[in-house]
Amino acid sequence: MRITIVGAGFTGTTLATALATSYDTDVDLCLVGAPGNFGCGVAYGDARSEHLLNTRAGQLGADAARPAEFAQWLHLSPRACDEFLPRMAYGEYLLDRLQEAEATSTNLTTLEHEVVEIDRLPGGGFRVHLDDGASFPSDVVVLAVGALPPQRLAGVGPRLARHARYIASPWQEGELQRIDPDARLLIVGTGLTMVDVLATLHRREHRGEIVALSRHGLLPLRHTVEAADPIELPPSVLHALRSQELRALVSALRSVAQIVDDWRPLVDAMRRHTQTFWRGLSPVQRARFLRHLRSHWEVHRHRMAPRVAAEVDAMRASGQLRVIAGRLLRAGVAGDRVSALYRLRGSDTADAGLFDGLVRATGLDTDITRTTHPLVQHLYATGTIAADPLGLGLRVTAASEVIDARDRPVDGLYCIGALARGESWEMTAIAELRAAVYALAKRLRTPAPARTLAAKAAPPARTARPG
Ligand SMILES: Cc1cc2nc3c(=O)[nH]c(=O)nc-3n(C[C@H](O)[C@H](O)[C@H](O)COP(=O)(O)OP(=O)(O)OC[C@H]3O[C@@H](n4cnc5c(N)ncnc54)[C@H](O)[C@@H]3O)c2cc1C
Repeated sequence: MRITIVGAGFTGTTLATALATSYDTDVDLCLVGAPGNFGCGVAYGDARSEHLLNTRAGQLGADAARPAEFAQWLHLSPRACDEFLPRMAYGEYLLDRLQEAEATSTNLTTLEHEVVEIDRLPGGGFRVHLDDGASFPSDVVVLAVGALPPQRLAGVGPRLARHARYIASPWQEGELQRIDPDARLLIVGTGLTMVDVLATLHRREHRGEIVALSRHGLLPLRHTVEAADPIELPPSVLHALRSQELRALVSALRSVAQIVDDWRPLVDAMRRHTQTFWRGLSPVQRARFLRHLRSHWEVHRHRMAPRVAAEVDAMRASGQLRVIAGRLLRAGVAGDRVSALYRLRGSDTADAGLFDGLVRATGLDTDITRTTHPLVQHLYATGTIAADPLGLGLRVTAASEVIDARDRPVDGLYCIGALARGESWEMTAIAELRAAVYALAKRLRTPAPARTLAAKAAPPARTARPG
């Protein structure tokens, strides 16, 4: 049997490593990923030294059963396990794990290529097409492609979208580096992506004014320096979770937050329950959550490392950073600058401003109906995948199996990661991703008897070591 994993970021490499170290040699494992980016993906590959993990080092082991593995790999002292380390270190760790698995297993092949098409074969299984025209059969395919390429921000005109003053991918090497230190900037989005942008601007001693705009104008809250002890959820919150009522849950959380010393362990304790709660919500409730509660949940859930938070505080206190709640209506090129029109939250009138650059920091794109991602476009056009109705990626079952346009699970095609958010809301952070990876690895170790062996041929010849 052959299993092909498409995408070699955290999810793909962790799954490949889990399977390579547990499978017998009758199974071919093929990990296909972007050249030079194995193990790292967007989060750890494009990170600079000022970009910190937003999780304490002691909890970041890639193996769900060994959360301390990353800290052990770095030989951290118990005190350092509570720190927020540069994200680059995490990419190194993931690559090291992958290389070790490759060195010890005889059945793992890595290919530095883009997968451009995947076709279903009439008798079961798939044909995987690479960007150089080569193709090969595979019984099982796992999509671990992360989020989609950035889509154009609503309101940004076509000229600005192609202009050097518009920065669509702030993590991309060189993008923020070309900003003049005195430039007046508009950042759209005020989540952790904006925090990364601010960290780089701060490191580069940026002097110009920065206006950050988002619908609610909320910034991520911060972690404490010392980790608080975990808590169990009180009965009132558990009861509200079981009721599947958003309003009851918010009210229970608010009441408990007033009497506990620190709300953070409360939010963290919710993580064990969020997936089940999310799956029990109706489409209307989910839409309501996205509209009214998402920003509030995310600023509590995805927190800033204390050091970065202190930098953001200093930028706000000095007046350099101004955070406003509102919506970008239109932005375009005005001579040598960027003109922006935005409506402040609660106001009927529009405000205008002139900036030297516009940075898009709106987070992960997951709308498969509008994407330019070639493989996802192809899978959607052929009906192999179907769109989540709220734009949260593609439809999958609770076991990560892809559901096609005819509402049927596609035997042997799986998806883990940001594109599975419609089924598993928190499917973007390491704790949830690794749980999903190990659950799928367990399932794949006991393959369905009906699955046909489409892949008898030897793996493709072009084998490249990552890194
Ligand atoms: C900037 C940033 C910081 C983050 N920090 C944290 C953190 O501190 N803690 C935490 O828990 N989570 C963090 N996250 C969440 C993060 O999404 C996960 O931790 C994890 O990195 C996601 O991994 P992934 O493999 O699913 O996706 P990705 O890392 O995006 O990897 C997907 C890979 O698939 C490749 N790919 C896509 N299409 C194809 C194709 N057709 N063929 C071949 N390859 C393809 C891409 O090039 C990419 O390399 C962060 C996310 C971001 C974006």
